[in-house]
Amino acid sequence: MSELIDKAALRDTVQKYLSEAEESLKKPVVDNQALRDEIKALLQEKDAVLVAHYYCEDAIQELAEETGGVIADSLEMARFGAEHPAKTLVVAGVKFMGETAKILSPEKTILMPTLEATCSLDIGCPEEEFSKFCDEHPDRTVVVYANTSAAVKARADWVVTSAIALDVVQHLSDNGEKIIWAPDQHLGNYVQSQTGADVLLWDGACIVHEEFKAKGILDLKAIYPDAAVLVHPESPEPVVEIADVVGSTSQLLKATKEMDNDTFIVATDRGIFYKMKQASPNKRFVEAPTAGSGATCRSCAHCPWMALNSLELLRNALRDGTDEIFVDEEVRVKALKPLQRMLDFKKS
Ligand code: SF4
Repeated sequence: MSELIDKAALRDTVQKYLSEAEESLKKPVVDNQALRDEIKALLQEKDAVLVAHYYCEDAIQELAEETGGVIADSLEMARFGAEHPAKTLVVAGVKFMGETAKILSPEKTILMPTLEATCSLDIGCPEEEFSKFCDEHPDRTVVVYANTSAAVKARADWVVTSAIALDVVQHLSDNGEKIIWAPDQHLGNYVQSQTGADVLLWDGACIVHEEFKAKGILDLKAIYPDAAVLVHPESPEPVVEIADVVGSTSQLLKATKEMDNDTFIVATDRGIFYKMKQASPNKRFVEAPTAGSGATCRSCAHCPWMALNSLELLRNALRDGTDEIFVDEEVRVKALKPLQRMLDFKKS
């Protein structure tokens, strides 16, 4: 395959990706220091803690670290928020993460930089349709990914994140249970292939991970033959098949620390580069290509909803109490059961 590759063109493409990644790493330097100081003061004044996802911009991740908050995947965000003593959680991420925090910590005020930040998986799994789908298969255990609304969680038997999905589904399958999996079909496929479970899939997808292309990654591998390919399982099957490591954001981050490779091709949101670079400053991280040359990609390895989180909106939410998350109490109580089941499973 390598004889067919125009290496000069590929080097240009790679350089473009590297330059974009470098640009994103420079962001904290140019951020407004006064705004950051204001947020720090507000966090103290309001007895609040910042809970940020790996896909948020560097400046927000940096602020979470500097103020005793956390940068994490959605499972760890949920656990950290529930166990932290602060009265207010500021959740920088997307709406289902704020809802999860409220479900687990109803006594706390949950703020987000913007309630507009949602997720294609959440949007693609409306509660009414999903409930009907479940009703048509009453013999199946309903397992939903964390990237769903509170109402969909309330209809589920289990909630899982990508960090724990394999273990939970393996456990259910070993107990002879047949499963409905929603909403991400690619992650569901991966879970099915790894566990051999009887899984009926909902057909949702993440618009970011769905854009990664196996061909583009193989082309990059020709340039960086010693690079390890790290893939989030929300990616399509051909991409998962060529991965050296498949895992959640925290599992991919761990792999970059533990593996000897000095270059990694990373197929997940480029926000994760902040922590990867911080943990391994001497290693090289290359964005996996999306959508192919000349295509108009909708995500380009960065979630458009995660990108809505900004320091300014975060400051406004804290200062003015806007963008607060509320969850109907009846829904919350129902959604808590499958969520708590996941957290207890993790502990055990
Ligand atoms: S990256 Fe994908 S799964 Fe994550 S919030 Fe964005 S759209 Fe949803």
